Amino acid sequence: MNIQIISIFPELFENILNISMMRKAQDVSAVNFELINLRDFGIGPRKQVDDTPYGGGDGMLLMIEPLTKAVEFAKRRDNTARVLLMTPRGKTGTQSTAKKFAERQDGLIIICARYEGYDERIIDLVDGQVSIGNYVLTGGELPAMVVIDSIVRLLPNVLGGETSAEIESFNDGKTLEYPQYTRPEDYLGKKVPSVLLSGNHAKIEEWRKNNSITFPENE
Ligand code: SAH
Repeated sequence: MNIQIISIFPELFENILNISMMRKAQDVSAVNFELINLRDFGIGPRKQVDDTPYGGGDGMLLMIEPLTKAVEFAKRRDNTARVLLMTPRGKTGTQSTAKKFAERQDGLIIICARYEGYDERIIDLVDGQVSIGNYVLTGGELPAMVVIDSIVRLLPNVLGGETSAEIESFNDGKTLEYPQYTRPEDYLGKKVPSVLLSGNHAKIEEWRKNNSITFPENE
């Protein structure tokens, strides 16, 4: 899966994409990341990427022209890629949308805005507008990392155990995983539930089922 990220701060991604599961995902060729610096498509000698909003108001908006050029550049590398715009106005991502992207494995071009946002005309080039929740962050980079992580860990050969993703929270859209424990059995009087030490798999299954949390489906 090819994931291209458009941002004025591409360096923010260097750490997060190069440790642990995101590193492994690249090592097993499940994913390839390309960081695109929007500034490279800026206008004039100052490589301007933002300007003030028509109609007045605080802050700056990312301009349509550098955004368009960056998307076109990314499309030349991967012309079937879907373009996602990170925006609080988008549809909130869920485990089931992450699964859909991980199953299709179509390329993604993810636009991260900054400041007050972006010139609305960019949406003609966008296939999906994605939010990570009803709060406002200073830029689209953290939301993009959240979306990328949620998809990439589901790609084949990325998680360790074959079933790790199947039994975890939200897999069926409504169940949260049961509590888990590791050594020691007794930590300063706080004991691991004895059924988990019993070796009785049926009982353990039952305990886990009873201790999972189910909530109404909200999609
Ligand atoms: N003025 C905008 C907020 C801009 S925040 C408004 O009131 O809606 C700057 C940028 O950060 C956004 O354009 C978007 O790219 C990103 N961003 C902020 N919060 C986000 C969220 N909850 N989900 C996805 N992207 C978000």
